[in-house]
Amino acid sequence: MKKILIIGAGGVGNVVAKKCAQNADVFSEIILASRTKSKCDDIASQVKELYGINIKTYAVDADNVPELTELLLAEKPFLVINVALPYQDLTIMDACLNAEVHYMDTANYEPKDVAHFEYSWQWAYQDKFKEKGLMALLGCGFDPGVTNIFCAYAQKHHFDSIKTIDILDCNAGDHGHPFATNFNPEINIREVTQTVRHWKNGEWIETPAILNDDCVHFPFDYPEAGVRESYMLYHEEMESLVKNIKGLERIRFWMTFGQAYITHLKVLDNVGMTRIDEVDFNGQKIIPLQFLKALLPEPASLGNNYTGKAVIGCVFDGEKDGKQQKKYIYNVCDHAECYREIQAQAVSYTTGVPAMIGAMMILKGIWAGEGVFNVEQLDPDVFMDELNRCGLPWNVVDFDGELPA
Ligand code: NDP
Repeated sequence: MKKILIIGAGGVGNVVAKKCAQNADVFSEIILASRTKSKCDDIASQVKELYGINIKTYAVDADNVPELTELLLAEKPFLVINVALPYQDLTIMDACLNAEVHYMDTANYEPKDVAHFEYSWQWAYQDKFKEKGLMALLGCGFDPGVTNIFCAYAQKHHFDSIKTIDILDCNAGDHGHPFATNFNPEINIREVTQTVRHWKNGEWIETPAILNDDCVHFPFDYPEAGVRESYMLYHEEMESLVKNIKGLERIRFWMTFGQAYITHLKVLDNVGMTRIDEVDFNGQKIIPLQFLKALLPEPASLGNNYTGKAVIGCVFDGEKDGKQQKKYIYNVCDHAECYREIQAQAVSYTTGVPAMIGAMMILKGIWAGEGVFNVEQLDPDVFMDELNRCGLPWNVVDFDGELPA
């Protein structure tokens, strides 16, 4: 029975707050803080109505370390669940160190002025968290998060050695908007417009961004969603998995995109709307991508009328008892069912549920340690059981499908 403080009241924050409220035997007190207090209050009133539980809310600027430290010292939570934006990771980690509070998040740090994300900035906090006897758990959403845990589980139970991993992320849903992103538009567009990388034989290999005609893609037959064009993309969990899955020879990440999404993004990119540098507009400085974000639907607003499924999983090729084998571990999540349960679409749901489970693992002491951890470094078994219990059931099957060589 411990107190947690959630930072961020967007699509994912809504799910984390409600899922924690569903597990009130573990989360004795829930606090929700974000930049816009009215969004916290909206979620709090829904939680009260749905589960009869009171959530305390605060306005906080998570870019401001003294302000955040003051809040943490006043409330003394056991753990902070950071589901604000990757820009805030380091300031929130600093405040956690100041107030001696455990930390976790779902996305790695990214500076505002460069569209580049990597773990080095957060891994550099290793000694500081160790010295204070605190745990920082990085990347505990779905991908990163559950995909890493699928890897740890495959390594523990199904393989003596894993040679290749292909992570496949399919959103076969329809939200009814001509163009919208399923998580924060700024972060999403920065991610998908990047040059693509995958890892092979100890090196990162670059291929063109998905907006380029020469990008790498292929049709993959997803369970329950059918055949979908899947584009190679750089994704952050590969950075930690190449360190933590021993003997790995190759890892790639694939994501489905509809033609309409790519066409819209190409146009926006061509006209400069995805730029992240300041431009002068009528004597005022604006960042085009931030302006675009203000025009697009908020991820939290997409759930109503969203139909179809999200299917995310990992294909493993490796050896067990001297024999080569391929396994596929995946989850299928239905947008409309998520909305019925928790008024969220499946992308927020598949991120928020693992964040709640990660928090539960720390609160119960099942995951414990001092320093900075990626989730695949911890034992996957209880987490995998909780996925089944908490709304994200998974399957493991022999894989006989086709992947590019
Ligand atoms: P949203 O844009 O819906 O929500 C972000 C929230 O953070 C908003 O409530 C926003 O406040 C708040 N926020 C932003 N800046 C600050 C600040 N300086 N101080 C306090 N609060 C702030 O995004 P999502 O909920 O879709 O995504 C949340 C996080 O989850 C992101 O980091 C995203 O990358 C990550 N994610 C991870 C996934 C995974 O599988 N691992 C998948 C999907 C998302 P305001 O309302 O005022 O703007």
